[in-house]
Amino acid sequence: MGYFNIINKGAGPVRLFVGGVHGNEGLTTIKALSIIGEEDIKDGKLIIYNCDESKYISTLDERYYNLPVGKEILSLITNYQPEIYVEPHCYRPDSFSKLTDKDRKKKVGVPPLIELEEGVLIGSVSPFIRINYFRRQDVCVTLEIPCSPSPKALDVYINVLKVIAGSKDRSEIEDKLKVKYPSQVKTARTYALEFFGNYPPF
Ligand SMILES: [Zn+2]
Repeated sequence: MGYFNIINKGAGPVRLFVGGVHGNEGLTTIKALSIIGEEDIKDGKLIIYNCDESKYISTLDERYYNLPVGKEILSLITNYQPEIYVEPHCYRPDSFSKLTDKDRKKKVGVPPLIELEEGVLIGSVSPFIRINYFRRQDVCVTLEIPCSPSPKALDVYINVLKVIAGSKDRSEIEDKLKVKYPSQVKTARTYALEFFGNYPPF
């Protein structure tokens, strides 16, 4: 059983953050997830889960969701039915160009991740869960950081997680992120449009 924390501030949106979903990413994601506390949530709930180490299969591969860890994530989503879902991941520096490749959609079927700063990348989640486990209006975010992050990168990553933890919906998240990352938010919208045919989501 991995790290589990639930912050309950009564009525309001349900948010679910799940880190360490494959391989040993959990060693990195726990550094950020364990820092989020009561003071970061104003209303609603935040469920935080950091998985134990598991076999590495990409979440873009539907077989991932047949693994015990994949099933665990699906049951968390089904149980809590979050309207805001975040998957913090980490990547090896040599994967940066692959993850942010402008032709990623053509190559692997999903849009490129977008760099916020310090190598911290934002994007959507696996299309399989996005389509089958969430409603269109839900917010689904993947956040990536280099696996051995610099203190600056970790700060950026934690700040974005806290922005999402402290927001009630998509527009609040976008408004807050737009202050620092206007072009990235705009790009995320464009990719979402391509993916869903019209706006939402990340
Ligand atoms: Zn990952």
